[in-house]
Amino acid sequence: MTVLPPGSTIGILGGGQLGRMLAMAAARLGLKSHIYADAPGPAFDVAHRRTIGAFEDLGAVRAFAETVDVVTYEFENVPLGAAAAAAAARPVRPGPRALEVSQDRIVEKRFVDSLGLPVAPFAAVDSLADLTAALTTIGVPAILKTCRNGYDGKGQARILSAEDPGWAWDAIGTQSAILEGFVPLTAEISILVVRSLSGQVAFYDVPRNVHRDGILATSTVPAGVAPCVIAQAHRIGQRIADALDYVGVLTVEMFLLEGPDGAHLVVNEMAPRVHNSGHWTLDACVVSQFENHVRAIAGWPLGSTARHCDAVMTNLIGADAADWAAMAARADTALHLYGKHDPRPGRKMGHATRIVPKAAALVPPEPEA
Ligand code: AMP
Repeated sequence: MTVLPPGSTIGILGGGQLGRMLAMAAARLGLKSHIYADAPGPAFDVAHRRTIGAFEDLGAVRAFAETVDVVTYEFENVPLGAAAAAAAARPVRPGPRALEVSQDRIVEKRFVDSLGLPVAPFAAVDSLADLTAALTTIGVPAILKTCRNGYDGKGQARILSAEDPGWAWDAIGTQSAILEGFVPLTAEISILVVRSLSGQVAFYDVPRNVHRDGILATSTVPAGVAPCVIAQAHRIGQRIADALDYVGVLTVEMFLLEGPDGAHLVVNEMAPRVHNSGHWTLDACVVSQFENHVRAIAGWPLGSTARHCDAVMTNLIGADAADWAAMAARADTALHLYGKHDPRPGRKMGHATRIVPKAAALVPPEPEA
């Protein structure tokens, strides 16, 4: 097993804020980063090297991979062909199978289901006739989601009546989709698991996530869920990571349901990468999700995931970041700005994490109705 020594170079496919924070974590360990992206982005400001190229330009992707020691990615929609071109030259971690599974909601749901893990009732939908049939078996309320390229709540339609579902089929652009039964969730949580090259596994504390307009608004730790829920989350995270022989940070988003036999979890989706719901680890943990991802793909031992502070991470979306000076003045707040210039509505401009040492109490914000 090769351990990449300080001075080695991590190649990152994608140049957004996740790539930026990965590159910063790599730099702390004396590692260099080379970013490959189709346009300049937040990661370009902090990397040792940058390449602008299309992900479809397999020659360029391979040439990029030859300049680095290991390749990773910061978004799951890296085309499989690009991952394969990189893998022909250097190890790609996590492996392309993780990409393949997480790029398509139906493939992902079937994979999670095949591992015996709990998912919402679902059916594949490739036509209006499929949708009509699926509504009779799954019932309403239900949620129709495009199989591919859906993120931050885009490409989804909530269906309250099984009659005339043509509007929902049109709303998602008449493309391959999944219909899911709407589960009566009481909270959303995620598990961030990191798996090393040798198969060692560590977990971060489970955050409670609140979404607004389909976009993550806050992540709070501790989540205030029962120890048996945390144990379930660990089992789910480890099962998926082991099944994929995963290397790096894997995130699984889950719904919490209260049943007559107690609380249980349903898997919503996975991300084969560091995740927005783990940004608080930068300020509240000994070693952040970004550093542990870098450690794992570089063949290093994992760092401690121990949490020393309670934390509430709030995304700064669009105009929210205009308040940066007030947030910077707060003694209990760690401010992270991604260097983006255009504060479009819905765009993640940065995040602010309020931290309080664990012994003291931190009151999480009330989720909006
Ligand atoms: P997703 O893009 O799959 O994460 O869905 C966006 C949001 O819609 C989730 O964070 C949930 O709040 C809600 N949601 C998605 N799927 C379901 C479901 N099957 N049942 C209930 N709520 C859901």
